[in-house]
Amino acid sequence: MATRKTTTTAARKPAARKCPDCKGTGETTETVRVGSARKPRETADRQNALCLTCFGTGTPSD
Ligand SMILES: [Zn+2]
Repeated sequence: MATRKTTTTAARKPAARKCPDCKGTGETTETVRVGSARKPRETADRQNALCLTCFGTGTPSD
């Protein structure tokens, strides 16, 4: 008597979702602030920062 394996695992798609914060790049652009902590002033400069939503992977994990 042969044992049958029932494959119930649905075909899962690979994580194709992109991180909404960095659009899948893994990096976000932040505004550079200067001045004191009490009175920060935003500059026109932007700096790249590691996306904290996906931690640089570009695909958020649940
Ligand atoms: Zn991200």
